[in-house]
Amino acid sequence: MNLKVKDSLIQQAESPRGLLYRMVIAYTCLAVLVIFTTALTQSNHEHINFYFVVNFFTIIILTWFIRKSFNIMSRASYVATLRIGLFLLLNSTLISMAGGLNVLDNSTTSVSAAMLYAPAIIIITHSFNKYITSVNSNYQSAVSLAFTDELTGLPNRRHLNFKLKEIENKRCTICIADIDYFKNINDTWGHEMGDKVLASVGLKLMNLSSNNLFIARSGGEEFCIIITEATDAAAQIRNICAFLEGGCNGGVNITLSVGAATKEANEMSSWVMERADAALYQAKNSGRNRIVFN
Ligand code: GH3
Ligand code: MG
Ligand code: MG
Repeated sequence: MNLKVKDSLIQQAESPRGLLYRMVIAYTCLAVLVIFTTALTQSNHEHINFYFVVNFFTIIILTWFIRKSFNIMSRASYVATLRIGLFLLLNSTLISMAGGLNVLDNSTTSVSAAMLYAPAIIIITHSFNKYITSVNSNYQSAVSLAFTDELTGLPNRRHLNFKLKEIENKRCTICIADIDYFKNINDTWGHEMGDKVLASVGLKLMNLSSNNLFIARSGGEEFCIIITEATDAAAQIRNICAFLEGGCNGGVNITLSVGAATKEANEMSSWVMERADAALYQAKNSGRNRIVFN
């Protein structure tokens, strides 16, 4: 969705335009006025009782609900159906109020109110269920977008920060893997090819990810690998590097430098990250294409 469309949707949600909801308010006011004046002209004052008050406030609340439903930022059909259901319920309550004030006779009131009430409840329940499903799925998409790196499809830096908090009291191995001389790939074959290489590496890493192996894109051409519950973390890192360097990534051969550090349960994740970063620095300085443990 482009930003202009999004902005206009937000503006619409804050101050919905359109005749429809104003017509509903006008219709309710008019209906209440007609019922009330008819009751007064028929001298039915004694019927203005608790039942009338309950109906009257239900009408106000339902009108408010319909008005509020125009703030829902969705053009899905269930929103329109929800409004129809609420409108039927509003009419059912108007009829009950008219019946309570003796403007309509008892049998007309009960039959017409029930005929509107039953479908209203079915429609409201159905559309509200659809609304919940859609809100949940939008929430999931938003979370997934916020935590996923667009280019590689891997967890992004934000997701990594959550993971680092999660492993705060656990023993694990944290590695930072950086592609060697990546700038040369961009300079030689262009930025697009560089993107292809990153996407291809990301896909390979995503296939390796498991419950015990968390891999995120922590920066440009840098990946953070967290290995939990491994008997031989060093061997696992070697395998990951061999897997990444084997075959060509988007048409280019790559090598990796990796800095690794073991985290004890009582150690802070941020501190271990710093050790892994220092190990990566050593790996780069001692010739690249290697794994250094700190
Ligand atoms: P080293 O071996 O020391 O790591 O050298 P390097 O060239 O890999 O490292 P350097 O930090 O000098 O350059 C990293 C380059 O990665 C620079 C930047 O343009 C490139 N880069 C970062 N993110 C992206 C991206 O998303 N796409 C592309 N194509 N390039 C990127
Ligand atoms: Mg690099
Ligand atoms: Mg780098």
